[in-house]
Amino acid sequence: MAAMPRAAADPSPVSAAPLVDSFGRAITYLRLSVTDRCDLRCAYCMSERMTFLPRKDLLSFEELEALALAFIRRGVRKIRITGGEPLVRRDVLALFESLGGRLGDGLEDLTLTTNATRLAAYAGKLADCGVKRVNASLDSLDRDAFQRITRRDELDAVLAGIDAAQRAGLRVKLNTVALKHDNAHAIPDMIAWAHARDMDLTLIEVMPLGETGEDRVDQYLPMTAVRDALEARWTLTDEPGVQRDAGPARYVRVRETGGRIGFITPLTNNFCAGCNRVRVTCTGRIYMCLGHDDHIDLRQVMRDRPGDDEALDEALDRALGAKPEKHAFAISERNAAPAVARHMSVTGG
Ligand code: SAM
Ligand code: SF4
Repeated sequence: MAAMPRAAADPSPVSAAPLVDSFGRAITYLRLSVTDRCDLRCAYCMSERMTFLPRKDLLSFEELEALALAFIRRGVRKIRITGGEPLVRRDVLALFESLGGRLGDGLEDLTLTTNATRLAAYAGKLADCGVKRVNASLDSLDRDAFQRITRRDELDAVLAGIDAAQRAGLRVKLNTVALKHDNAHAIPDMIAWAHARDMDLTLIEVMPLGETGEDRVDQYLPMTAVRDALEARWTLTDEPGVQRDAGPARYVRVRETGGRIGFITPLTNNFCAGCNRVRVTCTGRIYMCLGHDDHIDLRQVMRDRPGDDEALDEALDRALGAKPEKHAFAISERNAAPAVARHMSVTGG
């Protein structure tokens, strides 16, 4: 049974100064990780043997809620709950219920990124909380390839989760990491499958974050090559109207299917100039950039000065002042160390 929504911890209006970094970028989008744990072990994201954080290190439900509200007070309009796999955290629905209560009251969009293994059980409840769309990760429709990529045999659960989300009225966008050996040849068929089901699909270049037990050179597939292959099959037209709000994704429409493809190209085309987001880990570290290790410990501030909005605001200002201009990912040499040691599952995708 899901916990009942709790009273909002912070009733203050959306009036505090907006979060603007030293490059003039306004931060309106928070990605909030609720766990570093996951029931899959995607070979580009994690190693098979992961040491997860002790539960006491994770932000409590109340801390997650207070943090989210502090960001809303400072002008954040969109919150994406992520992980690890957000739906493996037991009290995650209570967070959706609470933040759902702020939709139309400072918050405009509440969503999540999920691997969809548990989405069938959650889809209806998420819709009830005001969630309108979800990003579901799916790297292959082939059972063996799915198992090779995720190191788990969960394709059926994922497909059931996606179906359930659509039945619940959630708009589903698929995220697919482009992988040189495991799915390159199957990407066009995955797109056709997604578009036939009225789902956009975003392709992502693999980023060198954390050790996974595989060499990034063997995984990395530049999006330029993917796009060339797609253009040999279809007519792609840029979607200028949506680029502004799309964050790092650049969208094209496929004339033959009517659907959209997003391209996230951290390697071949740096997208940082329009960055409108920050990420907070499940331990309360705010990372100002995916590609840098600089962070500020918001959990410490909340535990040292409980309920002190000013102290939290001051920490957010410090964080924003330190947001770097851009990342500098590269994948070229074999056996290279990751650009940053932490896994994507720590920072939240
Ligand atoms: N577990 C959820 C999921 O898989 O959707 C949410 C967290 S996951 C870290 C968020 C997104 O990051 C997923 O779409 C995943 O494919 C992507 N991702 C993970 N590691 C990545 C990497 N090294 N490079 C690029 N994308 C990555
Ligand atoms: Fe888990 Fe998502 Fe990372 Fe895959 S990409 S291991 S599903 S956190």
